[in-house]
Parts: sequence; C-alpha cells; structure tokens
Amino acid sequence: MADNVLSYIEMCRREGTSLQAGMNFGLGGSHSVILMSVRPNAPYRDRLEDGGTTLIYEGHDEPKGSAVSNPKVVDQPGTYPSGTPTQNGRFHRAAQEAKTGARAPERVRVYEKIRTGIWSYNGIFLLVDSWQEDDEYRRVFKFKLMAVEGEEDLSIPAVLNPTRRRVIPTAVKLEVWKRDSGKCVMCGATDELHFDHDLPWAKGGTSLAASNVQLLCARHNIAKRDRIR
Ligand SMILES: [Zn+2]
Repeated sequence: MADNVLSYIEMCRREGTSLQAGMNFGLGGSHSVILMSVRPNAPYRDRLEDGGTTLIYEGHDEPKGSAVSNPKVVDQPGTYPSGTPTQNGRFHRAAQEAKTGARAPERVRVYEKIRTGIWSYNGIFLLVDSWQEDDEYRRVFKFKLMAVEGEEDLSIPAVLNPTRRRVIPTAVKLEVWKRDSGKCVMCGATDELHFDHDLPWAKGGTSLAASNVQLLCARHNIAKRDRIR
C-alpha cells in the first residue's frame, strides 16, 4: 500500500527479487519496479513535479565493472554490446509504445529511499513518456511516470483514465520520520509503519505539511480507516 515504510530486505521480499539494479522491467510479466531518490547525494537526478503527481526519473549508467572508468561522462546505454536492450532500453521502448497507443502504459511500483535503510513505497505509477537529453557531460535517458490512484491489483488490466494521485513530498516524510522518532504515534511500534494523513487527502487534508502527516503502524492505520468508514 502506498506510503508504507519498508526496509531494503522487506522491499526485496515483497518483489521476490534483489532490487540491487534500481530499474527492474517486467517483473513476473505483471509490473516493473524502480527505486528513486531525491536526496542531495543520490546517484541520479530524480524529481517529483506537478505537486507530486509526476515523477521524472533518470535512466541508469553503464554498470560498474564495465570497461568504462567513469560512467558519469559516458552516454547512458540503451543496448548492450550484443544489441539486446538494457533496462533503459526496455523502459524506453515500453514508454514509446504507450505513447503511440500500441500498448497500455506499464505499471511501475516506485520505492523511494528517504534515508539509509528506510524506504517508502510511493505506490503505482504509469510509464507514459521517455526521451533522451544532454546533461553537462553526456546523453541520459529520462522517464515520465504518473502517480495514479489504486491500480494495486496487478491481475486486473489498468484502467484507461485513472485518477491522478499525489505523493507525500520527501522533505515532509523526512520531517515526520524525525518528529515521530520512527515509531507509531499511538503505540510506539517500529515495524509495518505507514505515513498517514491525519485528515485524509480525500477530505481536504494536505500532504504538503508535516503537521497533517503522522506515523502509524499497520494495526492503528487499519483501525483508523475503519473508524472513518
Ligand atoms: Zn500502533
């Protein structure tokens, strides 16, 4: 569920694979997974736009250990020397095909590193566009993904006109994590945590201010949802 807090191991367990590579196209044929970070020292320039409803995700470099000594000055590869597509190439092709209507947009689960060992599940995004552009040194891939409501059941085909969704900004998540000391505000539990909107977004609550977001464990999150219903 979107806004859950996970460790790296929990994340890999959920996806049934090591997510070391950061970009993982077509896992089990049902969806893709990307890891993002907007931290100042992050290796790639990912950014959230349009009030947190759009993710612009940077493609990935030549892998370490290849013949390249500094991957940051080399064009990001779309294919391997053998000609088969890299992860950049696979996401790019899917995005271009979605753009022309040749296929439905790929559903992508996005996980965000908010600090060392702490990840947040940012929910389902649709891969709707991609391009290549020049940075200071070389050509990089860019992918445009749209945060959408629901779509968590991967066995059901994606809907045609999904409802847009807003991701809680990273700075807000960090502030809440520190303020609540990484614990459920109700019981102090430190596992299965969730960033909860005190006043739900659907009822006019904001996700842009830490004052309206708190940490709840799964039990208290569900209890609150039931109470609201
Ligand atoms: Zn609790």
